Amino acid sequence: MFEKVLIANRGEIALRIHRACREMGIHTVAVHSTADANAMHVRLADESVCIGPPPSKDSYLNLPAILTAATITGAEAIHPGVGFLSENADFATMVADHGMTFIGPDPHHLRIMGDKVAAKTTMQELGVPVVPGSDGEVTSDSEAFRIADNIGYPVLVKAAAGGGGRGMKVAQTREEMGTALQMARNEARNAFGHDAVYLEKFLGHPRHIEVQILADRYGNVVHLGERDCSLQRRHQKLVEEGPSPALNAEQRAWIGNVAADAARRMGYEGAGTFEFLYEDGEFFFIEMNTRLQVEHPVSEAITGVDIVREQIRVAAGHALSFSQDDVHINGHAIECRINAEDPRTFAPSPGLVKDYHAPGGPAVRVDSAMYGGYRIPPHYDSLIAKLIVHGQTRNEALMRLRRALEEYVIEGVSTTIPLHRAVIQEPDFIDGAYDIHWLQRYVDKQS
Ligand code: ADP
Repeated sequence: MFEKVLIANRGEIALRIHRACREMGIHTVAVHSTADANAMHVRLADESVCIGPPPSKDSYLNLPAILTAATITGAEAIHPGVGFLSENADFATMVADHGMTFIGPDPHHLRIMGDKVAAKTTMQELGVPVVPGSDGEVTSDSEAFRIADNIGYPVLVKAAAGGGGRGMKVAQTREEMGTALQMARNEARNAFGHDAVYLEKFLGHPRHIEVQILADRYGNVVHLGERDCSLQRRHQKLVEEGPSPALNAEQRAWIGNVAADAARRMGYEGAGTFEFLYEDGEFFFIEMNTRLQVEHPVSEAITGVDIVREQIRVAAGHALSFSQDDVHINGHAIECRINAEDPRTFAPSPGLVKDYHAPGGPAVRVDSAMYGGYRIPPHYDSLIAKLIVHGQTRNEALMRLRRALEEYVIEGVSTTIPLHRAVIQEPDFIDGAYDIHWLQRYVDKQS
């Protein structure tokens, strides 16, 4: 097993990885920007290295600084966390070239799945159902119009390099197609430096259902069931739960096996998530995330598996510590993503956290790097905490979530907690009757 791991991330996810490492007896190295000198992950790590000024491109995305930090501290492996360099194939390759282990899949898999067109083609070849659309990238407007006419409107223009909900535009009608193409290409060029786009049928009332898998280098692959992440705003998840209230045991086993088989046949290693849209009883693959996901605690709560621990173990060359037969879905879990944002306008709300009190009690988990007196820097993602509750039934989890949200105190900055409190009281949410468009409609109605 590794003796020392460098955590190339910040915030709650850096802390999450630190916790897994410490429980495995592994020493941790934190890296941080000057804006994060007082951050929790820096305080708790065994060692820390400042890697640059606040902007991410100069610190958390600064490859030479991170590799140097790992080398001088003698780290044997780097955990990239979520976002930042976690899906960067060049970084993974450089880590290996420096004689260290990248805790994640092979660069080859990062590269294929990072290109959503290549990812879809690969899945199609493996027999995984995909969203109907263009056969790969569309290279000209005339080709796009011809294919869109064939698919039928509404059509979604998506960037091959897309992520975080960016580079995605809907054309409701043929008239909107030219603008959608141009806007998606511009957004993709600005955000990712590549303007390749492809087309998909825009589904009217799907749910977002994703399967968590874990794989080792010996061909063992398990799935940990699904998470339902349909509560989204601007294609960004806000609440996730598992199991999905929309699936029965048979559908759960079927889609879980589809994902696990595909991962096995790809020779995939590490943690990964297959994302699907689910509409009228059918699943359609949209993308694969080749890393840990923000919402991984939902699966941990219902299976008892420590996903980060398994990630580190398989990266160190161990076989998975359990098989599919050992995985039992127990009860129900719900996660709320708490962002430092205005709960109505969603404008970021960085600043000083004057008072902080997190909920506790049975089956309540809070993943957060916050504390009273902490100053949330304006430079990064607004996710400041994740609240995860578990219950024997969905109703028990809902009641527990309600009381946990009541207990939460965060003073000094605005957060999405009031929105969470309101949403979970909505009859549609209580009934589990929501699709990916539900939250946007709800938010629009309130304003
Ligand atoms: P990203 O990589 O930017 O997160 P995804 O492809 O994972 O993009 O899609 C993000 C979200 O966008 C999905 O969860 C879903 O809500 C919505 N979406 C994606 N594809 C479609 C589609 N074909 N029809 C309707 N909604 C879609």
